[in-house]
This record gives sequence, structure tokens and C-alpha cells, in this order.
Amino acid sequence: MVNHTQITKTISLDAYGIKNAQVRYQLSSDQLHELTISKGQGEEASSGALAVKTGEFTGRSPQDRFIVKDDITKDRVWWGNINIPFDSEKFQKLYDKVTAYLSEKEVFVRDSYACADDNYRLNIRVINEYPWSNMFAYNMFLRPTEEELKDFTPEWTVINAPGFMADAEIDGTRQHNFAILDFTRKIALIGGTGYTGEIKKGIFSALNFILPVFKNTLPMHCSANVGKDGDTAIFFGLSGTGKTTLSTDAERSLIGDDEHGWTNENTVFNFEGGCYAKVINLSQEQEPEIYDAIKKGAILENVIMNDKGDVDFENTSITQNTRVSYPIHHIENIRVPSIGKNPKNIFFLTADAFGVLPPISKLTPSQAAYHFISGYTAKVAGTEAGVVEPVPSFSACFGAPFMPLHPTKYAEMLSHKMKESGVNVWLVNTGWTGGPYGVGTRMKLKYTRAMINAVLNGELGSYTYEDYHIHSVFGVAQPRTCPGVPKEVLSPRTTWGDDEAYYKTAFKLTNAFRENFKKFEEFASEEIRRGGPQRYSF
Ligand code: ATP
Ligand code: MN
Repeated sequence: MVNHTQITKTISLDAYGIKNAQVRYQLSSDQLHELTISKGQGEEASSGALAVKTGEFTGRSPQDRFIVKDDITKDRVWWGNINIPFDSEKFQKLYDKVTAYLSEKEVFVRDSYACADDNYRLNIRVINEYPWSNMFAYNMFLRPTEEELKDFTPEWTVINAPGFMADAEIDGTRQHNFAILDFTRKIALIGGTGYTGEIKKGIFSALNFILPVFKNTLPMHCSANVGKDGDTAIFFGLSGTGKTTLSTDAERSLIGDDEHGWTNENTVFNFEGGCYAKVINLSQEQEPEIYDAIKKGAILENVIMNDKGDVDFENTSITQNTRVSYPIHHIENIRVPSIGKNPKNIFFLTADAFGVLPPISKLTPSQAAYHFISGYTAKVAGTEAGVVEPVPSFSACFGAPFMPLHPTKYAEMLSHKMKESGVNVWLVNTGWTGGPYGVGTRMKLKYTRAMINAVLNGELGSYTYEDYHIHSVFGVAQPRTCPGVPKEVLSPRTTWGDDEAYYKTAFKLTNAFRENFKKFEEFASEEIRRGGPQRYSF
């Protein structure tokens, strides 16, 4: 699959306004790896992976993500502080400045595509200032064959110039960095930030508009895998809740770890050609597949290494968001092509730092719709010195920053598909147990995997009503037993050993749910509203 042969095709970027550039077209992963090192922009880790620092930004910058308001988007996009409008003329001016900046430079160009299902394929040309960003595009997007490259017509273009700094006052940006989508020109323009995640999430955001609006297909911020019997499972969840970790499972074939579409032909397909895993505290013992994927061809971001090139995965001195990208074939058990059938089980992952949600529970269709619109997880934010408190974080559809349309649009499509397919929906708390953050501990990965396996083996699915306890606050169905998991772990209240403190914290969370849901109330049917928590205070 890795293409070592030299691509002989040459291209000019004059039509883009990038003049006299030294175009490095379709370099191989190895060439980009070597070039990055020879330019002093990266180092080789002892595993063989390339290690780079992304610079000022080590994560996305949602406040600097804009969408050009034009005839295509003006009446369709849900404008606000998530989808921030950008003027079309201003875009043209900024585009001209970025392309002038790239002119006369060495630039790295890669033709690739998104969407593993040919009916949805989107051809993409990625133009990068840096070789490692271009290697990221090789890892993360789908890779056309040499034959396909001969008459490749790019539809969307990503222009990525981390070294270009905008002048906010003149250019209409918020500050020096920006990621702007233009649906008429079909361009994602990224400047002032070297964080590679902006490249993949730019195209994801574009597809989250294109697929529902023009192709009647539901785009999802989820991972997906398929069992030996061909049963598909998908895992929704916000960053850090476990999409990549839990979908990477030696017993099941990986479809993808982050972005998928659910078609009306009863299939689920991956948008991408690679994975982008968090590596904080990564260990070979806990996550062997991801650990072993870190080899030549992978790109580590913002990690700390010793003189021998060994990575210290516990070191977060640059960022908590240390990452690795690798082409999907670095994982042994994968689905080729990355397409599965209708899901049989859907998991909503949440890292509940309050420690009050059950580690696994079954949702009714109303509850599924309610939780999808709410998109709950918790962040752990430092407040006063030494005091660290969980902060609830709600992000509609488990991915609001990437969703250009109103959340109810995606929720309606999902509800419809869930009903049609009769899928089971589970809420999985991969967060805290035995108390909130600071008191309790993170749920053992071993237990979360056991609960998910029990669902996928049909064990929990075959439980009857008596096998569940209906949670008095959240109303969800909590299994009383689960193979491979101590009984007491299944009941969060039991793990606390302090009923009063448990309920007090649970109500803190349900009140946050209620507050957040207010903005959706007018759009939500009685059925969806019924899916919310049952109790809000004593
Ligand atoms: P993103 O959208 O940013 O890619 P993600 O949903 O893919 O995020 P992961 O990369 O899977 O999130 O991150 C989950 C992190 O939490 C990993 O570092 C994993 O080791 C850790 N973790 C600890 N306990 C658990 C658990 N019980 N279940 C899942 N993940 C856990
Ligand atoms: Mn992930």
C-alpha cells in the first residue's frame, strides 16, 4: 500500500496565485520524513516515527474558525459563535496574501481524497508550507493510486501556511491565526497555526455541510469498527472520551477512528485514511495496537524524548494534547475498504468527571435523542490554586465545533436512522468512578472494554427488564451485572460510599443538563424532552 515509486507528474500552482514556487508534488512518506529532519523541523524517535513540534498551537482554535457567508451558506448555516461568518471579499484579499506568501517558496502538494465510499468521494488537493504537514495529509486522507493520479481533478483545496500571520484589523480575523471555509471557492484556508488537526477538521467541517445538504447522508463525529459476524459498532464522543482508544480493538476490524457517514444505503463509511490518537500516558500494555502503530510513517506531535529518542508519554510539558497520526494500515485488523453495514450498537462516550453517570447504561430512543443533542462530557479545569473542579461541557451532536448546520438537523437524521435500523444505544461513562475528579479515579480501561465487549457479544443486549436498575436521577437503565466487571462498579452511587454527596453532585449535573437544553427546547419534540434526566433537585 505504501507507494515508494517516484511520482513523475509535475504541476504548477500559478492558477492558485502561487507564483514561481518550487513545487514538491506527491512526495512519499519516507521522503517527507527525511526532508523534515534535514530541515531541522523534526527528529526521528527510536520507534522510527517522526517527531515534530507544531509550534504556538498544540490544539485547534475554535474561536478562529470561520465560514464565508455566501449564497450557498447564508440561509443554511447555523451562524453564531461556533460558525462565525466571514466576508467573501475579505476572504479573497486574505487568500491573495497567503498565496503571495507561498510564492517563490518550496511548497508541498498532495492529491488525496476523503470518503471511502466511491459514491461520496471528495477529491482534495493539499498545499502545505511544511513537509511534515504534507505527511500528515498523507497519513490522514485517503491515498489515490498512481493510476488515479494521472487524471486527478481536485475538487476542494486546503491551503496551509502556518508561518503566515494575519493582521487582524486589516484581514478581518480575530487574531493572527485562522481556519476559514469557503464553500463557493471550495477552499479551506489555514494560516498562523501549525496544528495539523486543523487540516483534517477543516475537511470534516466541509463534509458536515456537504453530505446532509446535497447527499442526504448523515455525517458523524464517531469511530467505527466491525466484528467477525459483520456487526458494526459506532462510538460518538467529544475529545478525550475514548473514540480512538475503544474502536482500536484487536478482535474487531477498524473502520475509522473519528469521522464517518451513515448513508441511506444502510452503510457506514470512513471519511479518512488514517488515525489521530492521543498519546498522553500511552502504554504498550494498555493500548498495544496504538503503541505498535508508532513506527516509521507515523508522526508524533509535541512529545518529549530523551537522547535515545525514547518518548516519555507521561510528559505533558508542551501540552496535554500530545498526538500521533498514522495511516490506518499501521493497525493490523482493519476493514478494507473502510465501509461497514448499518450499526447494530451505538455508544455515546462521555468522560464524566463528576463521577455520577453509570459506567454503562442503555438508552431509550428519547434518551438517545436527548443525549445526542446535549453532547455531554466534562472538563477538568483548574480554578483557584490547588482547587480543581470538573466543569460540565456540552457540545451538540458530540461535535458542535465541526457542525455547520443547526444541531437538530443532524439529530433528526440520526433519530430517523436509529428507528429505521432498530439499533441499540448505550451511554458509556469513561470518566470517573468512586467520586468526582480529585476524589475518585478514572474508570479502568479494562472495565470499559469489558462492558463494551459484553454489549457486542450480545450479553447485555439479551438482558431483560429485571436485569436493569432504572437510575433514579438520570432515568437510564443500568445493568445490575456485567461479565468481567465487579458488580459494585456498575452502580456509581455504590462506588461513592456517601449517598448524600452522590445525589448532591448528580443534581449539580442534571441542573447543568437542564440549563444547556434550554436553547434547544423550542426545537425539541415532547418525545426528545422526555429523554432528559428525571430529577433535578431534592
Ligand atoms: P479525539 O476526538 O480528540 O480524537 P477521542 O475520543 O478519540 O478524542 P481518545 O484519543 O480515545 O479520545 O482518548 C481517550 C484517552 O483516555 C486515552 O488517552 C485513553 O488512554 C484514556 N482513558 C483512560 N481510561 C479510559 C477508559 N476507561 N476508556 C477510554 N479511554 C480511557
Ligand atoms: Mn480520536
